[in-house]
Amino acid sequence: MGVRPRIPVAVLGATGTVGQRFITLLAEHPWFEIRALTASDRSTGKHYKDAVQWMQESPLPSEVASMVLLPTQPDSADGCRLAFSALASSVATEAEIALASAGILVVSNAGSHRMDPDVPLVVPEVNPDHLELATLQKFDRGAILTNPNCSTIGLVLPLKPLDDLFGVEAVHVVTMQALSGAGMPGVPGMRSLDNVVPWIPREEEKVEQETCKILGRLTDTGIDAAPVRVSAACNRVPVLDGHLACVSVSLRKTPPRAELEAAWRSFRGEPQTLALPTAPPLPVIVLEGDDVPQPRLHRGLGGGMAASVGRLRSCPLLDFRFVTLSHNTLRGAAGGALLLAELAVRKGIAGVIGADPRA
Ligand code: NAP
Repeated sequence: MGVRPRIPVAVLGATGTVGQRFITLLAEHPWFEIRALTASDRSTGKHYKDAVQWMQESPLPSEVASMVLLPTQPDSADGCRLAFSALASSVATEAEIALASAGILVVSNAGSHRMDPDVPLVVPEVNPDHLELATLQKFDRGAILTNPNCSTIGLVLPLKPLDDLFGVEAVHVVTMQALSGAGMPGVPGMRSLDNVVPWIPREEEKVEQETCKILGRLTDTGIDAAPVRVSAACNRVPVLDGHLACVSVSLRKTPPRAELEAAWRSFRGEPQTLALPTAPPLPVIVLEGDDVPQPRLHRGLGGGMAASVGRLRSCPLLDFRFVTLSHNTLRGAAGGALLLAELAVRKGIAGVIGADPRA
């Protein structure tokens, strides 16, 4: 069996925090090949290396360094089947529609279209069936698929097996979110060092609404949001990468504590069954110990694609409480979007790409 050529892709908003993560992940990707990079007017026409403030630990891939940044418009993605969007939300709304209208499958990290009734909002291990929603979209060949907010992803991964087995009724979550979540150039030192900021614009609403859409049920006409009451309090803390969250949950059935842990340990999703390239072996990793997970120590587990959970104990207000940690620019952004694209490719979503490119 011959090796298929890689699928040509564009990265929209390639110079930002999430765009840079896309570059590092795509440079090594077995199915996708970077063909075009876009950014704002400030950057277009420049070589990528001259426009970007490279903040990754690995060197800028040489094949990308000399690529010329293009304007964020459909003809920049000519010849690409797929576009990964790491655009600021303010521009993503229109730009993503324009690209999908031009027949491109857009896989987006931006918040702009996540709650649109015909747009799938997918964590591949949690609600892969929601991809079907894309068939309701009015584009000819293109489609828009979305990756949830970075905090929501780290929350719904451990909630999903609990919901399947015991039924989640209510969730109270307090997040401690990393600085990289605020994008480039980042939070000023005078505001972030020696400090915690107890507000992230629109974040609490996103966590509350997106959780219910993701845990919701696919019907012929859209998603029936899950009847889960979610209360979120979101904080910016002086950590570079990795969002930590303290979660309390009430369940319809209250099993012994060991059954919750067992549910996490045995949890696998379609990405694991299909052995997708970006899938971690375990989507949820249970850590032993009183003081874990911690961002610096555990954000890289599963290649930054796993949610680490710990400190499971009973809760005097709801039933149980625990701590969850996920890497915000890997699982919470570029890595999550890549995994979603891999799933979409394998499922031939919206007829854009077709079957498994490895076949
Ligand atoms: P960022 O660092 O601010 O990067 C924004 C990107 O958008 C840059 O490439 C920028 O290009 C481009 N851009 C800005 N204005 C533009 C315009 N008018 N036309 C075309 N391109 C424009 O933001 P980020 O943190 O990477 O986040 C990107 C998206 O992902 C956002 O929607 C964010 O909400 C979402 N997200 C972020 C995270 C995270 O952890 N950071 C997690 C999940 C989701 P220039 O360099 O030329 O300005």
